[in-house]
Amino acid sequence: MILSLVAPRKLLIGGGAVQQLPHLLREFGLTHPLVVTDPWIVSSGMIDRVLAPLAEAGIAAKTFSDTVADPTDTVVAAGVALLRQEHFDCLIGFGGGSPMDTAKAMAILAAAGPGQAMRDFKVPASADRGAMPVICIPTTGGTGSEATRFTVITDTANDEKMLIAGLGALPLAAVVDYELTFSVPPRITADTGIDSLTHALEAFVSRRASPLSDIYARAAMPLIARNLRKAFAEPRDAEARSGMMQGATLAGLAFSNSSVALVHGMSRPIGAHFHVPHGLSNAMLLPAVTAFGLEAGRARYAEAARIMGFAEEATPDAVAAGQLLAELRALNAELGVPSPQRFGIGEAEWEAALPTMAAQALASGSPANNPRVPDAA
Ligand code: NAD
Repeated sequence: MILSLVAPRKLLIGGGAVQQLPHLLREFGLTHPLVVTDPWIVSSGMIDRVLAPLAEAGIAAKTFSDTVADPTDTVVAAGVALLRQEHFDCLIGFGGGSPMDTAKAMAILAAAGPGQAMRDFKVPASADRGAMPVICIPTTGGTGSEATRFTVITDTANDEKMLIAGLGALPLAAVVDYELTFSVPPRITADTGIDSLTHALEAFVSRRASPLSDIYARAAMPLIARNLRKAFAEPRDAEARSGMMQGATLAGLAFSNSSVALVHGMSRPIGAHFHVPHGLSNAMLLPAVTAFGLEAGRARYAEAARIMGFAEEATPDAVAAGQLLAELRALNAELGVPSPQRFGIGEAEWEAALPTMAAQALASGSPANNPRVPDAA
């Protein structure tokens, strides 16, 4: 068996780490960054957490703040147009998964040949060829995008969230500073927290899991299981925020070196069609998808339950796997995760979208990594 491992060249993790951004840029010989972020990061003043240390160090940065949730190919193209106006030597993706993914996609498109578009890189095509250097700084805890070889971009012509995978989407480095997450409201804390739990669990039960990805998944799961409820209830709890942030990055490393599976495969089309935030659509699916695969992946689900403290070491697999499912259902109830209908999606429009959503889910390849592989029905 040949193992492979991909990760950013440098990860800085800890409270206050963002202060070291100028030093990090110097280490890589980078001098003129374009900061890619979203309108809230600018209007709230959080942008200064990045711009101030850069200015103090005499590094001239500019900002592109037009990113949107579920970032689109049109926003990426607008960002690349700005990028081409000056000689920027790197991108800094600053924000939640949306700005980080936009920065990664801009880096790929900027290095691509003339006439190429984001959809040319969609899986099963690869984005392995060169891209501009990207440094990611997450502010939600989170998507793990700062540590993955993926970016997810919406094809506006077809309402499709495209998975783009390859070394071109892997950040050069990341700064993971939990102090940036104190302001994340409870709903977004819950959604992004369940997103990271899903990453770790799907990476662990995936048919593509390896001894290397397992190291990260095993480390991520207990951190997230121990800290998610606390971060939700007490947003300024430093220990909980630190645990969630580390857990999210480790979960990113886990699925970047294994895969995601059926939850993510189904979640992307739900996000594209009904604009359900990514973490929330994962949360809506996680218990049902776990129930669907429980028999086929029983030993792994049972081990995950033990690792997260949901089952005792001596508990038999069948019981432990059931305890995991019960915990996931209880977690959704406590964190107020709604059903698609309660979220406001009408029965008729849901039914009408199902065939397209099922086809898009299967085409993404993610469902084939699930312990039990589904068909469209
Ligand atoms: P997001 O980036 O869209 O942010 C959600 C909201 O939180 C925004 O309004 C943002 O302004 C706000 N926000 C961000 N930081 C904040 C802070 N510190 N305090 C208060 N508010 C803050 O959401 P997300 O869930 O972080 O990212 C979702 C995106 O990430 C989706 O497009 C998803 O497909 C993608 N994703 C990518 C990967 C990957 O490996 N590339 C993995 C998982 C998810």
